[in-house]
Amino acid sequence: MTTAPAITRFAPSPTGRLHVGNIRTALHNWMLARRNGGTFILRIDDTDAARSLEEYVDAIRMDLVWLGLDWDQEERQSARLDRYEAAFAALKAAGRIYPCYETAQELDVKRKIALGRGLPPIYDRGSLKLTDAERAAKEGEGVAPHWRFLLDHAEPIVWEDGIRGTQKFDAAQLSDPVIRRADGSWLYMMPSAVDDIDMGVTQVLRGEDHVSNTAVQIQIFTALYAAGFAATGSAAKTLPEFAHEALLVGREGKLSKRLGSLGCDAFRERGIEPEAIISLLARLGTSQPVEPVADRAALVESFDLSTFGRAPAKFDEKDLERLNAGIVHQLPFEAVASRLPKGMDAAGWHAVRPNLAHVGEAVDWWRLVTGPIDQPEFSKDDKEFLAEAARLLVWGENPWAALTTALKEATGRKGKPLFLPLRQALTGMDHGPDMGELLPLIGEQEARARLAKAIA
Ligand code: GLU
Repeated sequence: MTTAPAITRFAPSPTGRLHVGNIRTALHNWMLARRNGGTFILRIDDTDAARSLEEYVDAIRMDLVWLGLDWDQEERQSARLDRYEAAFAALKAAGRIYPCYETAQELDVKRKIALGRGLPPIYDRGSLKLTDAERAAKEGEGVAPHWRFLLDHAEPIVWEDGIRGTQKFDAAQLSDPVIRRADGSWLYMMPSAVDDIDMGVTQVLRGEDHVSNTAVQIQIFTALYAAGFAATGSAAKTLPEFAHEALLVGREGKLSKRLGSLGCDAFRERGIEPEAIISLLARLGTSQPVEPVADRAALVESFDLSTFGRAPAKFDEKDLERLNAGIVHQLPFEAVASRLPKGMDAAGWHAVRPNLAHVGEAVDWWRLVTGPIDQPEFSKDDKEFLAEAARLLVWGENPWAALTTALKEATGRKGKPLFLPLRQALTGMDHGPDMGELLPLIGEQEARARLAKAIA
């Protein structure tokens, strides 16, 4: 990998919300850029005007902000149509684009025939073979052409993939891709390459479902450069480095519909912290340990494509819950203050934090401090013990340590018989946050009232 500042991009199509799969792609591109002071571009791939919605563009931005994935530059394909026209003209002049007249049905029949013969369904270049007269006849009938990019079968396609190693493709085994529809609108393939050139993208990191697109785009890149199309002011006619990560699958081994649609809203509703998602997705499918890392700089520092495996990365929601608890236990008061119950201060947060799997549960434990609490019925023995506690309670520096030490001495109780009735009387619970931290928060007056109630 290069050491020059990376320019990476995350290029979602605004035809839906982000889901774990593309959150992961966004994160990895962000880390790649942040690791060496590079630039992270958010590129909205909205050439599909019919399916692209502005509300999804907003939702994508909001999700990235919530995840803490800030971008340095934002681009929109719909604002760059003149560049695609220019690229199209350059490729056409160079003979690398040709008009096609087949209908969708005709193409479908061709595909089925090929498959029926046990052949790969590669486009047969039927339209390329038309004579000028045949082409003129089609146009005369009013058939508007769609356009394909002419792959060069003689040009080997080879790249060193940052994750998959050396990749080789035989262009003859690929269909010439349709790059423009008959209505003039653009398909994904060429605009994406044009953008990567214009924006000086140095690393393209995306899912392995794009591997064959990369093979085609490498030829589009070289054809564009050969046709004299280059970014304004950019002298380097280089190709980005490519890396394709193994896909994300559920525990059952494939990307289920549920997992495929799981996004930030669902996570937020379930009380999952962005840092838990980041911790999981940063290292899932790599040889690095998946741990709750609240320090994002540390995650960025450790990001390394060479640790990525080629096996599908298994996304398990149990891992996410485990990481979430681990993250919550590290969150400082300032990070959660606005989400805590009224009156809960830094000491309160510190006391309850180790008991939480989600920040939202703080309110349940905080009730033990504010009351009212439900105490169990105590035995005669325990009532005597609690009466002794009420007598020995001295409000000093560390009332809990002082009380339990004094009680131990006075009653000879230790372990559970010493601590449990006290916890039950003071909080109404058998377990919970550390009493040493909780008791000062309950306060002397309330603690005395609770003990009095327990022995009444
Ligand atoms: N809009 C494309 C997608 O969401 C971008 C693919 C790419 O990274 O080039 O799949």
